[in-house]
Amino acid sequence: MSTLFKKIIDGEILADIVHEDDNCLAFKDIAPQAPIHILIIPKKEIPMLSDAAEEDQKLLGILLFTANKIAKKLSIEDNFRLVINNGAKAGQSVFHLHLHLLSGRPFSWPPG
Ligand code: 5GP
Repeated sequence: MSTLFKKIIDGEILADIVHEDDNCLAFKDIAPQAPIHILIIPKKEIPMLSDAAEEDQKLLGILLFTANKIAKKLSIEDNFRLVINNGAKAGQSVFHLHLHLLSGRPFSWPPG
């Protein structure tokens, strides 16, 4: 069965898309946890980071670099946080790999 994010890739569910290319898609989170909260996902269906294979190494780099590109476009390149929740116990709720790009407020450490 398709995940929610696969349906967004396929255009079956609408999202506020901020970036798209052959490898990935980025769109605004529906329940933002910061003034800027963007999800960056691979078009390839990888349920979670720990499911990535050797052959996915380049794609993982592309996802990180895409976060950089979006941050530059939004002029937040010196102030953003990336989060990957890997597995339900770590807070993952949608099982299609995604990076959370967060900015626009102070962030504390350690994360909650
Ligand atoms: P996770 O908890 O798996 O790390 O993150 C999933 C994220 O997807 C959450 O931040 C949640 O707000 C977001 N989300 C859930 N449903 C939708 C939706 O239909 N559209 C968008 N744009 N984001 C969603």
